[in-house]
Amino acid sequence: TPYNHRRQRQLCIRDRIYSIMLTLYLSITRVARRDGDEMGDPIRDIFHILTYKQRFKMLEHELARDALSGLFNRRFFDENLQRELERAKRLQHNLNLVFVDIDHFKSINDSYGHQVGDDAIVALADSMQSAFREADILCRYGGEEFAVIMPDSSVRAAFEATQRLQREYQRTCEERNLPLETEITFTAGIANYPDDGSDPADLIRQADRRLYKGKDSGRNQVMMDTVIMRKIQPGR
Ligand code: GH3
Ligand code: MG
Ligand code: MG
Repeated sequence: TPYNHRRQRQLCIRDRIYSIMLTLYLSITRVARRDGDEMGDPIRDIFHILTYKQRFKMLEHELARDALSGLFNRRFFDENLQRELERAKRLQHNLNLVFVDIDHFKSINDSYGHQVGDDAIVALADSMQSAFREADILCRYGGEEFAVIMPDSSVRAAFEATQRLQREYQRTCEERNLPLETEITFTAGIANYPDDGSDPADLIRQADRRLYKGKDSGRNQVMMDTVIMRKIQPGR
């Protein structure tokens, strides 16, 4: 019947989409697994017995993540900053955006090799998991650049969490024998909704501007609005 025919075609298209996604998924997990291919077959087998819906969920999850750090990727960041800002407006909440960039990362790569550079990136990502709250959205923005969306948070809370990250990163690097000759540090810039604007571009621009101000004035520091900084740390 025409109905059956159409249904058949739909199933066929659906299967083709799933097989493309499966291929994508497998190449992503292959990149994620850095030590050999011995996990390949079990993963493929497990993947086969999942329902279509489960596979779809898994792929959705993988496609939002950065393979090296396990944090959300840039694509996910873009979608969610927009969404969280709309939510903040609706609920009249504050929102903070934190940009983090590792200091002198190029010279870490040049002196110790890319593997050590990668370890420094992973150590920062892991430190972020313990320094920030469950509700905060942790992203790898680019190479050694990270971004955190903090829904419903005060500027003070964002500032304190980022300072907590400084201590946590130092501790993690020591624990993993990454202090090298000089300590690995980062510089951060914080932007706030509504103080610094109300759309994603405004907040990104402001967080970036503060981050670069921090780079220019000595690195290894957390930068935010100067008025608020004076309020949080009187006399500074
Ligand atoms: P600054 O203190 O001003 O931030 O200096 P920097 O050297 O950290 O900044 P720059 O942007 O010049 O260097 C970033 C380097 O990060 C360049 C690139 O080779 C390296 N990089 C980008 N992605 C990765 C990655 O995934 N792994 C490793 N090991 N290095 C990466
Ligand atoms: Mg950079
Ligand atoms: Mg850098």
